Amino acid sequence: MSAPALIRQQPDTDLGAAAAVLSVDLAAVAANCRLLAARAAGELMAVVKADGFGHGAAAVARTALDNGATWLGVTALSEGLALREAGLPAPLLSWLNPLGADFAAAVQAGIDLAVPSIAHLDAIAGAYPDRPARVHLHLDTGLARDGAPPEEWAALCRSARLAEARGQLRVVGVMGHLARSDEPGHPANAAGRAAFDRGLRIARALGLRPVHRHLAATAATLADPLAHHTMVRVGAGLVGIDPSGSTTLHPAMTLTAPVVSVRRVAAGTGVGYGHTWVAPQPTTLALLPVGYADGLPRVASGRAEVLLAGRRCPVVGRISMDQVVVDVGPDRTVAVGETATVLGTGAGGAPTAAEWAAWSQTLEHEVVTGLGSAPARVLRRTTPPTTAPSPAASPTSPRSTR
Ligand SMILES: *Cc1c(COP(=O)(O)O)cnc(C)c1O
Repeated sequence: MSAPALIRQQPDTDLGAAAAVLSVDLAAVAANCRLLAARAAGELMAVVKADGFGHGAAAVARTALDNGATWLGVTALSEGLALREAGLPAPLLSWLNPLGADFAAAVQAGIDLAVPSIAHLDAIAGAYPDRPARVHLHLDTGLARDGAPPEEWAALCRSARLAEARGQLRVVGVMGHLARSDEPGHPANAAGRAAFDRGLRIARALGLRPVHRHLAATAATLADPLAHHTMVRVGAGLVGIDPSGSTTLHPAMTLTAPVVSVRRVAAGTGVGYGHTWVAPQPTTLALLPVGYADGLPRVASGRAEVLLAGRRCPVVGRISMDQVVVDVGPDRTVAVGETATVLGTGAGGAPTAAEWAAWSQTLEHEVVTGLGSAPARVLRRTTPPTTAPSPAASPTSPRSTR
């Protein structure tokens, strides 16, 4: 993969090297998107919620659109409006908003809205009198979370049809979501698909003609072709995460940190708060200026490792708010200023997001969004070098900072 195309860095200090750097390889995103778009039966919506899973929403969106995606998807309307402000005119769906959201602004900005209830329908219908809202009715297909419960679906469809007849909105889509698509073959997936099919039949019978019908996220895109319909909604896969475990994708995020100090300690030396680790022998410790405020899960204390001077080194003692101590080992040392890779893409032996997730008993999703959303530390943003992220990239493609 090419040089990191999006970089974010802790503030420069007098010791200019004392900065952690979070970088995102947009060429990896591009490759993932091409693979996923080739697997999809229909269109691909690039889901860039949570700041593109911590990778930078606008940069990931641009890269995806240059590599086979035709739609963008976000949770909150504010995220969609930010993408419009970043100069992205692509079809865009926002699917989770409170009733008081500025739906007029959404329609004005050409943002499609998901509708999970009649109350939402009423709030959206005619919100912007100049133009009918474009909506995707959202059916709960098995999570009991967002989306209309099946028993309310027919009434929602009927109300939507009436609002269409009044010219207040157009039902352009129907969406559902699967609860267990990361367990391909689980009966809940067949049940979710069947619930979606029933919902579509009801919508059609009540006079609706939704052109965009979408149920699958990353896992079902890769492992459940029956769920594809006219479009898939892919988030995790773009940044290299395959919840279905079926396909090798390219992780895109790297976090490096320079060694800020090195010390030799005697056997019996306690390290960090609570002395949860005590040196069993004389050894060399290195200090890195990253911690849980940067998104490193503190619960990984005692298990995590970093790559330093070509070797895996354990993080010892508790992960602190903004620093960690690494055991370099008894018979070697490292130089101040040397760079440790705290999280890498899998190349070169650095720990991956999947390893950090295992150390923290969580998902890769949470690791990368945690690292990517540590705004307190984002005091400087650098414009990356203008390396083309992919052969398919357009001249306007991803080099923006966020
Ligand atoms: C997050 C989300 C997606 C994308 O899921 P991935 O598994 O990250 O691809 C799709 N649809 C909905 C409703 C979501 O909330």
